[in-house]
Formats: sequence, structure tokens, C-alpha cells
Amino acid sequence: MSTQPTSAILPVTRFQAAEYLRMFVNRGAYLRQSHFADKESGRFYYYKVCDRKSKQPFSIDIPAIQSHLAGHITIGLYAINPKSQSAKWIAVDADYADARRDLLRLQQGFCEDGIDALMEQSRRGGHLWTFLAEPLSAKLCRLYVLNVARRLGIEVKRDRSDGIEVFPRQNELQPGEFGNAIRGPLGIHRASMQRYWFEDDEPTLEAQFELLRHVRRVTREHLEALTAGMEPIPDRTPPKPWVQVSAAGGHDQGFQILSHALNAKRSGRNYVARCPSCAQRGEDRRGAHLSISVAEPRMYHCWAGCTTEEIREALGHPIRRKQAA
Ligand SMILES: [Zn+2]
Repeated sequence: MSTQPTSAILPVTRFQAAEYLRMFVNRGAYLRQSHFADKESGRFYYYKVCDRKSKQPFSIDIPAIQSHLAGHITIGLYAINPKSQSAKWIAVDADYADARRDLLRLQQGFCEDGIDALMEQSRRGGHLWTFLAEPLSAKLCRLYVLNVARRLGIEVKRDRSDGIEVFPRQNELQPGEFGNAIRGPLGIHRASMQRYWFEDDEPTLEAQFELLRHVRRVTREHLEALTAGMEPIPDRTPPKPWVQVSAAGGHDQGFQILSHALNAKRSGRNYVARCPSCAQRGEDRRGAHLSISVAEPRMYHCWAGCTTEEIREALGHPIRRKQAA
């Protein structure tokens, strides 16, 4: 069935919002997609919904979900509950040229394992959703999906290469971490102002909820049986050469990585610290991935393969592209 995206604002009941919360919300903190494109990148970024003064994240509530489903705002949902390190769903995001073909192959691969997955449209490609009978560890979810992807020869996204992204994006979160979020289904994407639907039913909230209610959930026993003997697959990029970070543009001249609280230790010709980007994924707990040149502190490198962009983003200082004159 082919369901076209639609753009209308829809009426939503509190009951629907409560059901959505039970199905999709793993933790209180959530994101909202900006209603305006970023001036430099043209992208509609998601930002964490926080109290202005205390900077504490707000907890998602029924009115926020109603507003998302109606189409007034668009929320992003985190994949992991930090208390249990578990997820209620697995979502696979793909947005490159052959994305749809890869997602359909993955869906078929899941199907052969007795696992149902629903295809949701997105602006490019799609999101493939699998629902769990109870929250299951993020690690177990990733172990399964990354192994199926490897079996089918489907690329996992590395740096800027094309490939699928598996949510949860981390095996576990460290205290204070949030991991990655994905656009909450059934809302309106601010960039296209379109509402993307699950493809297996009619484009109405009633039909979509009915579909979501009845999709077969994966049980713990089933996923544990499928993953028995599977090897963990690192979802990381290979090491890359050192990068000169000051080359990107005027804004970067002032960026000094050592001025950030990295707890760097001197080791020969380098300082060694926990990579901020790895840390966001709960990795590099021993603080050994990031090397910073003592002689030239603007040169740094993550041995797990994080890009300069990812490291700068993690430090809250994203690299600004030079604006066209
Ligand atoms: Zn790193």
C-alpha cells in the first residue's frame, strides 16, 4: 500500500496521546524540532526542551504529545531509558539514495526471524520500526540489528558515508547522557511540512493507531534466542589521520580544545583525554581515545574514529561553515 504524506492539522484525543506515550516514550526528556531553518545549514534542528533558567530538561507530557500528533509542534524521542538502559522500540533510519531498498531488505531479514517491522515514510528514505513486548536492553537490540545488517551486507552509517543508523544508537548511557533521538512518528516534519505515515494502513490517526496496537511485539525470549552466539559489532568508524581543526573557517580560529574541561593527561608528545563524542555514546570510559598534540594543541584526533564535527558538536561548539559572501 502506498500512503502519501499529508499536511493537515488533525484533532487528537488525550487517549491517543496517552497511548502514544506508552508506546514511544522511553524517558521524560525530549526534543522539539525548530520551526525555522538554521541560517547557515538550512536544516531544521532539534533542540532539547529545557527550563530557561535552570536548564533542566522538561519531561514530556500529554499536551506536548497531543500538540505533536495534531501537527503544531514536532518532537524528537530518545531511544534509551537511562535507568534501565532499555528501549521500547528499535528504529532503523536510512536517508540515502538506496535507503528504501536497504530498509525493505532489512524488513525481510527481520521477517525471516519472525520479527515484524513497520515502514514509516520520511523526507528521504524511511524509518523501520520494531516494537518490543517489554523494554529490552539497548545492547541486545543493537546486537541483533547490527548482526542482521552485516548478514545482509547492509552498510551502517560511518561519518558521512551512506548507511543505516540503528536506534538505540548506544549500548548504554552514562549518567547525564541522553544518546540520540529520532523524529516522533505521525507528526509533521517542519522542513517539508508533511506528515509521514506508516505504510501498512490508511493515512488517518485512527487507522495508524489500530495498526500500531496490533503489530506483533518482540519478546525477550525471542530476541535472546536470536542473538545467542552473535558477536557484538562495533558501530564505529576506523581511525583516521590527524585533522587540522583551524582550517574550517573564521569562527574556528578561536577554538581551543584544551580550554574545555577534558581532564587531559600528558602522555609523551600528546595529551590524552576522554573523547567528548565517544563519551556521549557512553564509550571511552578509560579516557584514552582523544589525543591532542602538545606542540600544536589545535591538532587532535579520536582513535575510535569520531570526526572533528562530532567532537566539536559534543563540546557544544559545532563547526560553523564559512558563509558565502
Ligand atoms: Zn571519539
